[in-house]
Amino acid sequence: MSNINSESGIEPALYLVATPIGNLGDMTTRAVEVLQNVDIIAAEDTRHSQKLLNHLGIRNKLMACHEHNEQQVLPQLMQRLQNGESIALISDAGTPLISDPGYRLVAMAHEQQIRVTPVPGACAAIAALSAAGLATDRFSFEGFLPAKQQARLRALQALAQESRTLVFYESCHRIEACLRDMVEAFGEARRITFARELTKTFETVRQMSLGECLQWVRQDANQQKGEIVLVVAGAEPSETSQTELSQLLNVLLDELPLKQSAALASRITGVNKNACYQLALTLKQHD
Ligand code: SAM
Repeated sequence: MSNINSESGIEPALYLVATPIGNLGDMTTRAVEVLQNVDIIAAEDTRHSQKLLNHLGIRNKLMACHEHNEQQVLPQLMQRLQNGESIALISDAGTPLISDPGYRLVAMAHEQQIRVTPVPGACAAIAALSAAGLATDRFSFEGFLPAKQQARLRALQALAQESRTLVFYESCHRIEACLRDMVEAFGEARRITFARELTKTFETVRQMSLGECLQWVRQDANQQKGEIVLVVAGAEPSETSQTELSQLLNVLLDELPLKQSAALASRITGVNKNACYQLALTLKQHD
């Protein structure tokens, strides 16, 4: 433990402390020591975090720091850090700042040359990725997709040719709609790992095709509950070339209307519908 001094407590710094994402056994020894020794703990939801502190037997001061009160508490927190105090930032679960608040505080601490130090631990995205059985050498963390359908589909279509593994957080209320849009944007053959309730009693980690995943989630209401990470395989670099797609579309356009040709080409190749539509449009214009 390099940063704990038994006499003075702890080195002044802003500590980003990860907390469990379900299983309380995932709290690290160092995280407990830091939370015990800092001058104050800034928490996303103090009532929620108080339960964790009680469980761990930690008696330390908590103050709320979330996106709605950030403007008010930020100057106070910065003042304390400048006075040489130590602060730990925690979120409701997992690693702070990963789809959680804290960005402005950390950015400001860097601006003011205050030491910022992570105390790593659980993170749902990394836990899901490690268990996904999909490429992990390059991945893109996409966080939460837009809640509105049109915006979500557009965001997914923009990722259709991304070759890195994609990691998404999704609310259980939108999971079916999200998978439906993924099928539309990525094609039903694309592999996905559905990671639900990680580290908890009903933990589920299953890899299958996107089409299978949509059917399964539709048919099993239990899969529409709890917390979910979706890990989606990246686009194959060798997927249908532009020339092959043009050839296929030309054949289809000879027989069918544009929209139907694009939809069929998308189903056959797995290339996203919008990309097929745009190419079909270009081909038609140059016909
Ligand atoms: N900072 C957190 C982390 O490090 O994972 C993420 C916070 S974000 C507000 C909450 C989202 O993370 C959930 O909606 C879900 O997508 C994912 N998540 C959190 N805990 C999870 C778990 N135990 N199993 C699966 N997904 C989880």
